[in-house]
Amino acid sequence: LSRPSVPPLFPALAAPTARPALRCGPDALSYEELARAAGALAARLAGARRVAVWAVPTARTAVATVAALLAGVAAVPLNPRSGERELAHILGDSAPDLVLAGPDDELPAALGGLPRVDVPLDGPAGPPLSRDVDPEATALVVYTSGTTGPPKGVLLSRRAVAASLDALAEAWSWTADDVLVHGLPLFHVHGLVLGILGPLRRGGEVRHLGAFSAEGVARELAGGGTMLFGVPTMYHRLADALPDDPALVEALSGARLLVSGSAALPVHDHERIAAATGRTVVERYGMSETLMNTSVLPGGPPRPGTVGLPLPGVAVRLVEEDGTVLAGSDGETVGEVQVRGPNLFSGYLNRPDATAAAYDGDWFRTGDMAVRESDGTIRLVGRKATDLIKSGGYKIGAGEIENALLDHPEVREAAVTGEPDPDLGERIVAWVVPADPARPPADAELADHVARLLAPHKRPRTVRLLDALPRNDLGKVLKKRLPRG
Ligand code: ATP
Ligand code: MG
Repeated sequence: LSRPSVPPLFPALAAPTARPALRCGPDALSYEELARAAGALAARLAGARRVAVWAVPTARTAVATVAALLAGVAAVPLNPRSGERELAHILGDSAPDLVLAGPDDELPAALGGLPRVDVPLDGPAGPPLSRDVDPEATALVVYTSGTTGPPKGVLLSRRAVAASLDALAEAWSWTADDVLVHGLPLFHVHGLVLGILGPLRRGGEVRHLGAFSAEGVARELAGGGTMLFGVPTMYHRLADALPDDPALVEALSGARLLVSGSAALPVHDHERIAAATGRTVVERYGMSETLMNTSVLPGGPPRPGTVGLPLPGVAVRLVEEDGTVLAGSDGETVGEVQVRGPNLFSGYLNRPDATAAAYDGDWFRTGDMAVRESDGTIRLVGRKATDLIKSGGYKIGAGEIENALLDHPEVREAAVTGEPDPDLGERIVAWVVPADPARPPADAELADHVARLLAPHKRPRTVRLLDALPRNDLGKVLKKRLPRG
């Protein structure tokens, strides 16, 4: 065992103590125990190049990922709820040498051809494993959510993971004293990189709920949790539960930091949570390819509807369609978000075409559209591919119309798209899940509401009612799956 010349990704595992590291369901591991379990598994991974991790929400998934990182082997987290076709795509694309799974996990037939290695929760005591790993080596291959196309394998280096986690730590004053609570899935950047590797890099604790519930959040925050990470659907559920749950009110009020990301948190939910708890949910913006880009600063003025300022070390620019880099901050002109920094990925696996297309020089094109407010904060207005509506000579972001619709008391969920229109170019279409399906709001009432809050040209021309919006595991709306109009 050599003395590492590269700083370890997890300093707390290099000299482990009895401090708690990880708790998930019935399993709890201290840093000593995690070092033993992950160290034992890492020793078995020598010679492998890439390993799949059956990413069920358990402590073993964390142990498996940490083991791969200690061994210098790339980990490919698999969504255990993937359909056959998606799983076949990911396995074919990433070609892992083996799959890491819990001894009791039932693996689908698509994984049948791969050698299986059981993930232990313990291991022999001994000197902690420390391998000298190139910071540019791939640590993780994370597949994108597939919101806009087939999932792409994003190659994340140890350098990118460390840089992004350290930038968040600086922005959020995240330390070893923090106890993070979350119930996110463990096969995306949010749940796995931020939610598991984040606390372990800091030397703090993570408590995973196994499955998200308002009761679980209240219990863990009351029992020592200091931070909560969630996606908007989770905060929406918490906001629904708050009026009848004083314990939840107290738990959220007492937390040091409530963070939302992965999709926009509607202003309405921001407001409901703030009204009940006095707390501002901190929104941050990132993606698989860039890890985290911007965040609202805790302690600063509440900025519902914005994703805040660039994180330390990250440069953000907005670029108009004709290539002009937006200089001002008028809160109106829409540009594509482009980013540069040590947090960026190393490319898409097997997709040099997509990798090349994703860059404008050394700036990464996020595909997200935003405006810059006068105080410099970034407000996302939607994705270029699905959310930018060109109607009557205007460029309109679907996001702000969705927010306006959600402000209407009779609207439960809303998505906005553009459809071809002979007169306007594109026509604004609102897909609405009514709060009370028996008494849906009138189309004209919703259109007037939007026109009153925003501007007449942002008025939806068509309103379509649905029972629910199509969403993926992170609660992101899959606009491509909306029924054709
Ligand atoms: P695909 O790239 O396969 O279409 P995806 O972009 O949804 O899927 P991810 O990398 O998991 O896959 O998600 C990143 C995207 O999530 C961002 O590009 C952005 O559109 C959205 N996002 C993340 N955080 C926020 C946020 N706070 N507010 C609004 N949108 C967000
Ligand atoms: Mg994407």
